[in-house]
Amino acid sequence: MRTLLDLARDHAGDFLGQLPDRHVGARATRDELVAALKVPLSDDGEEPAGVLDALVRGADRGLIACAGPRYFGFVIGGSLPVALAADWLTSTWDQNAGIYATSPAASVVEDVAREWLLELFDLPRSASVGFVTGGQMANFTALAAARHGVLRRVGWNVEEDGLTGAPPVHLVVSAASHITIHSSMRMLGFGTRSLRKVDADDQGRMRADSLRELLATLDGPVIVCAQAGNVNSGAVDPLRAIAMIAHERNAWLHVDGAFGLWGRATPSKRSLLEGCEWADSWANDAHKWLNVPYDSGIVIVRDSASHRAAMTVSAEYLEQTSGAERDNFDWVPEFSRRARGFAIYAAIRTLGRRGIAAMIDGCCERALQFAELLARDPRVAILNDVVLNQVLVRFGDSDELTRDVISRVQKEGTCWLAGTTWQRKAAMRISVSNWSTTAEDVEKSAAAILRCI
Ligand SMILES: *Cc1c(COP(=O)(O)O)cnc(C)c1O
Repeated sequence: MRTLLDLARDHAGDFLGQLPDRHVGARATRDELVAALKVPLSDDGEEPAGVLDALVRGADRGLIACAGPRYFGFVIGGSLPVALAADWLTSTWDQNAGIYATSPAASVVEDVAREWLLELFDLPRSASVGFVTGGQMANFTALAAARHGVLRRVGWNVEEDGLTGAPPVHLVVSAASHITIHSSMRMLGFGTRSLRKVDADDQGRMRADSLRELLATLDGPVIVCAQAGNVNSGAVDPLRAIAMIAHERNAWLHVDGAFGLWGRATPSKRSLLEGCEWADSWANDAHKWLNVPYDSGIVIVRDSASHRAAMTVSAEYLEQTSGAERDNFDWVPEFSRRARGFAIYAAIRTLGRRGIAAMIDGCCERALQFAELLARDPRVAILNDVVLNQVLVRFGDSDELTRDVISRVQKEGTCWLAGTTWQRKAAMRISVSNWSTTAEDVEKSAAAILRCI
C-alpha cells in the first residue's frame, strides 16, 4: 500500500509542479487517447504500480490544466492545497457519509461546515445544509424542498401522493436561468414546457417589474427561481426587489448562486447581493469558487422541515429520532456517498473569513484587470459590466473573428477559455475562479489573446 501511495504522490507532485507552465488545453486527439488507454480487458489483471504508471502516461496529454492559474473556461475553480490534501484523506478514510453510524466524524464535520457556511454567506443560522455533488444537485434538492413546501401549504403531500392530481404549481424562472434549473424541473416531474420565463435585462438580470406583472396573473402555488451570478456575465438578479415581490405572493424563492453566492463572503460585494438572505433556498458550488476538488456542491434551505421531508428516506411523519446526531442522508438525494465535508472544512478553516474574502476579491480584481488590458485594443469590446469574476469579450464586432480568436487561443496554450453566445452574438467568456491566478498570469494571458487577433 505504502509503495503504491508513494508512487501516486510522486505522480501528483510531478503534475502539480508542471501545472503553472503546462500547455493549458488538451494535446491529444480522442483517437490518440484511445490508442494510449485502450487495452483488452484481461483475465488476470496487472501489477497495480504498472497500471498506475500506464494510467498517468495514457491520460497525460488528455488532461486539461484547469486546476492551474491560466484556465479561464466555463466557471471552474482549482483546488487549494489543503483542500486537495483533505480530499486525499477522504479517499483514504473511505467513509460512508450517509448516516451518523457509518461515520460520526463525517457527520460532525458537516455540522460544523454548515454553521461556518451560514455565517460566511450570512444566511439564516437555522437553515439546513446538504452537501451534494454540485450545482445541478443543489438546485434539484432545493427545488424538491420547494415543491414540498408550496404543495404542503395547500394540503398536498407530494412525497406520498406524487404529482398526479396535485394542484398545479407555477414555475417562474428567468430567461437567463442556468440550464440546470430546467433539468431539475424535469427530474422533479414538472416538465419544462410549463416554465414561465421572466425577461432579463441587458446584463442577464431578471427584471423585477416583469416578475411583478407575471405573478399578478398567477393563482395557486408558485416557485420563483432567481440567480446570483449569471454564468456568462456574472450579473446578480435584483434579489431584494425579487424577494419582496415573491413573498407578497407567498411564493417560494430559490436563488441559484452556484458561484455568485461566494460574493456574500466579502464585504466588497455585499451590496450586490443584498436581499439574498430573504430567499427560501440557495444553491452553491464549493468546487467552483471555494476551490475544493470535485465533487462538491452545497444546498441551503430556510425551512429545514421541507428540506428534510423532501429528502429523507424515513417517513416524513417521524420526528428526527437521533437527537443531535446528523444523518447526512436526510439532506441530499444520495444514500451512501463520499464524505465531501472534509475538504470544505479544511478549506474554510485554513482561509478564515479574511482569506476567503481575499480569494474572492482577488479573482474579481483579476477580471477587471483582464477587461482593462483587453479594452486598450480598439478591436476589442467588453460586453458586460464586470461586477464579479466574469468578462465577456468580442473582437472586431464579428462572430467569425471572435470564434477564430477563441480557437487560436485554445491552440496556442498560454491560457484556455471558451466561447459563448451573448445577446445573440458570439463572445469570448473569461472566468477568473482560481485561487492561484496572479496579476502576472492575467498579463501573460491578455497578451496571448491580443496576439491571436
Ligand atoms: C455551474 C453552475 C451550475 C451547475 O453546477 P455544477 O456544479 O456544474 O452542477 C448551476 N448554476 C450556475 C449559475 C452555475 O454557474
